[in-house]
Amino acid sequence: MEKDKEKKVVTLAYGCQMSERDAETLTQITRQEGYTSSDDLLNADLVIINTCCVRESAENKILGKIGELKKLKEKNPNLKIAISGCMVQQPGALERLQKRAPHIDIWAGTHNLHDFSALLHQVEQGGKVAEVWQEPKMPLESTPQAEKGKLQANVNIMYGCNNFCSYCIVPHVRGRERSRKPEEIIQEITDLVSSGCREVTLLGQNVNSYGKEFSPVYDFADLLHDVDQIPNLLRIRFITSHPKDLSDKLIETVAGGNKLCEHFHLPIQSGSNFILERMNRKYTREYYLSRVNKIHEILPKASLTTDIIVGFPGESEIDFEQTLEIMNMIHYSHAFTFMYSKRSGTLAAEMEDQISLDVKKRRLQRLMSVQNVKSLAWREQMIGNTYEILVEGPSRTNPERLVGRTRGNELVVFNGPSELIGSLLNIRITEAGTWTLVGDIED
Ligand code: SAM
Ligand code: SF4
Repeated sequence: MEKDKEKKVVTLAYGCQMSERDAETLTQITRQEGYTSSDDLLNADLVIINTCCVRESAENKILGKIGELKKLKEKNPNLKIAISGCMVQQPGALERLQKRAPHIDIWAGTHNLHDFSALLHQVEQGGKVAEVWQEPKMPLESTPQAEKGKLQANVNIMYGCNNFCSYCIVPHVRGRERSRKPEEIIQEITDLVSSGCREVTLLGQNVNSYGKEFSPVYDFADLLHDVDQIPNLLRIRFITSHPKDLSDKLIETVAGGNKLCEHFHLPIQSGSNFILERMNRKYTREYYLSRVNKIHEILPKASLTTDIIVGFPGESEIDFEQTLEIMNMIHYSHAFTFMYSKRSGTLAAEMEDQISLDVKKRRLQRLMSVQNVKSLAWREQMIGNTYEILVEGPSRTNPERLVGRTRGNELVVFNGPSELIGSLLNIRITEAGTWTLVGDIED
């Protein structure tokens, strides 16, 4: 009897590391259903797009991709297409999307990923399916764990967000905060390490509020301390730290750890107290600066990165100047900079004093030029010093060379044999650019 043709799945993720992690979950589920991962869209049997709706630009990109897939489906009517994640979960979005893209076979919300095989079975029998629960009803441990056998893995430690920053759609599409049990997380990481993983990134929208619902008390610093004890793991990263919940205990735990990387991604969003209050960030610029000072006091060599939004409703030139001022004060190694994007259903979308696109563009340009100078200066002061690097693989731009990251998450390119991939090395920095460093292996 002729063997069944191997089924191929292409999974595309848009947005943050959580979206990437969800896309990985979906790929794993399809693997259990007999699919092999591929990046060849022309020969795919199933295409999954895990979506993002944090900014309109992400949504437009995804809508463009969904349009492209229509042509692919016209050529290959057997192709199945699934759209999942945040964009589908927005209130009222499903009907709108279904009308706009009738060629899609599966629509799945953020709370329906665990059940993807059932949805797949339904469309394989013929027909279309949409499943978007308003609340997470599945147990926390019901989705597959991070993929085994890779050097680096993203591990969810919690889901959802309770902060309701006034610009942000995330709490509306990912639900309230739920923390996984520490023993489940530690077991998952131990299994990953047995399969060859050497670096984990612990993921949460606000990792600093991990475990708030636990009794007896067990917080994020306790979790970091325990993950640090796992043998043969080389590095632990975490993202994202909300400044309002960054405790001294956490900074001290990072300082006292062995594998805990001295890098804090601490989004400031704005340097103006007026705007921070309208954003519902629940800290002032003075409090933020006091947290940065605390980090530098305990960990003088820690790297800091941030997120900043320009053109939030009501942002005056003076407010924006205050953001520039703070960018000049703090030595961020990198900043993710965004123009405010109106998200329907959020408080900020209803604010009257929206800023014009021209002003937003101009402010973004100014902010980026300030940060580029700062990023370069940060890397230049690293020249001549030696840093520990975890070797990740060949450089994308020059496969003859290797790349790795410092504990501070700075990318370093250097010459060396591929056998070094997966090991820790000391590299002396010889050159610096805005985004990358170049170095030599130290004897
Ligand atoms: N939970 C993280 C935190 O609190 O920093 C980040 C979540 S969000 C996916 C990543 C970044 O997107 C935010 O830090 C913010 O700078 C930006 N962002 C969120 N909503 C936005 C909006 N409506 N317009 C522009 N940028 C936005
Ligand atoms: Fe969005 Fe604020 Fe939650 Fe981050 S902390 S996900 S910015 S609401």
